[in-house]
Amino acid sequence: MTELENAPVSQENADDVRDANAGYDVPHYINGGRVASRSGRTVDVFNPAVGAAAGRVHMAGAEEIELAVAAAKAAFPAWSQEPPLARARVMFRFLELLQQRRTELAKHIVREHGKVLSDALGEVARAIDVVEFATGIPQLLKGEYTEQISRGMDAWSIRQPLGVCVGITPFNFPAMVPMWMAPIAIATGNTFILKPSERDPSPSLLIADLLKEAGLPDGVFNVVQGDKFAVDAFLKHPNVEAISFVGSTPIAEYIYATGTAHGKRVQALGGAKNHMVIMPDADIDQCCDALMGAAYGSAGERCMAISVAVAVGNVGDELVQKLKDRVKTIKVAEGNVADAEMGPVVTAAAKQRIESLIASGVKEKATLVVDGRNHKVKGFENGFFCGGSLFDNVTPQMTIYKEEIFGPVLCVVRAPDLKTAVEIIEGNEYGNGVAIYTRDGGVAREFTRNINVGMVGINVPLPVPMAFNSFGGWKRSLFGDQHVYGPEGVRFYTRHKAVMQRWPDSIAKGAEFAFPQMK
Ligand code: NAD
Repeated sequence: MTELENAPVSQENADDVRDANAGYDVPHYINGGRVASRSGRTVDVFNPAVGAAAGRVHMAGAEEIELAVAAAKAAFPAWSQEPPLARARVMFRFLELLQQRRTELAKHIVREHGKVLSDALGEVARAIDVVEFATGIPQLLKGEYTEQISRGMDAWSIRQPLGVCVGITPFNFPAMVPMWMAPIAIATGNTFILKPSERDPSPSLLIADLLKEAGLPDGVFNVVQGDKFAVDAFLKHPNVEAISFVGSTPIAEYIYATGTAHGKRVQALGGAKNHMVIMPDADIDQCCDALMGAAYGSAGERCMAISVAVAVGNVGDELVQKLKDRVKTIKVAEGNVADAEMGPVVTAAAKQRIESLIASGVKEKATLVVDGRNHKVKGFENGFFCGGSLFDNVTPQMTIYKEEIFGPVLCVVRAPDLKTAVEIIEGNEYGNGVAIYTRDGGVAREFTRNINVGMVGINVPLPVPMAFNSFGGWKRSLFGDQHVYGPEGVRFYTRHKAVMQRWPDSIAKGAEFAFPQMK
């Protein structure tokens, strides 16, 4: 049991948290060991509940990037030659270790991200699901075979690994999003470099340690801590074959454009503005339950968070009235506190941005039903806490509708009918997730078939696919062709090879100058 895992469950004030964890370093992890930044450049890692620096993360310079790429490239030939079953067995051991150490991993997330422990444990559970999927890689890598494709000739297709793959990940899921990528990249025979968010880098090192303990050879999984400097170096590096990115839309678009211009395979998942349509026949209490979790869980810092409720027909008044009382009483607290429902947002800048967007909503004449600004938590007065906010009468022209707020703010938009609701959703630049609440199967079916969004929930607020179905949005929520994890993840990290074979006995004599035709 580690010190972090042993930390008290209930934290009374900022000093309890600060004293337990202050002053740690988060270096890189290259070729099986920790590596400090040669330049000595570090950036503070904050505990957002305390509102003060807790540790320091090392920032990569050119030297560490070269070291990591060289290590990953050197490890590739041997690792890619391992039979899929041998790679799967490493994943099985990793799976077991993750299950044993999941609380410790979750506590790293609480400390640096701020989300509540129950939610951090949920994040780790979803990360574990992907590892479990990756243990099935021998089955997933089976190719296709056609006997006698022509007389005396057989044909088959296989999928082979790419080489060095890089994953660049956001702050909001510091364990789950890296695991959307690394287990599948590695199980398919690639080597991998993770560039985690500099805001919450510690989970990356625990993941690296557990992979090593599981028997992964050195150099197959590496972690380079850093910022734009590191990302740009990977995007242009001649020995990097593929880039997976998850983060905000402007950066995703940049990653896709730059990476593909340098000849790399790129999947770049961006931001979101997810709508939930509430039809007049829906159960309003169920809708309120769903919206509370989906809009305010993880302080709204989820790419699948519902940030817009579209109230169809006359459901708006009852919906807003019921939400109002519940939003006011959300239990906002430091993430380890028992029964905490919502922790702080990630940085002081995020809090300020969220509060200034709320001010813009007021200025643009939306109705602020619950105001979560200037929220203070006793004992954690410097923490980056926001209370839940609720807006009614929001229109698609308003800044709070157009921008991804990425905080605990729900906007209610009123729509006279489903057609108008669909037009609103279609007009939005993002297409990550959407939900519809209704008892009418026909309405749900037509909505699902026609809506221009990548993931759809029918009476499910956060339709995040499980590990064996792939995850990804449409429109400006994803740049690239393949979604992450599941079967699309396997396709992204492998390339297709087609083989045709015949043996001397069946080869006809003489040169063939024309394409053969079947007789
Ligand atoms: P971000 O775009 O600021 O950062 C993501 C990664 O890019 C980080 O590793 C960061 O170091 C790096 N980065 C930041 N600025 C860069 C630059 N100028 N050039 C190169 N690299 C840069 O995102 P974030 O704030 O960490 O995460 C929140 C965002 O991620 C939200 O927009 C959210 O919707 C999105 N997100 C999307 C999904 C999805 O599946 N579509 C999942 C999680 C988060």
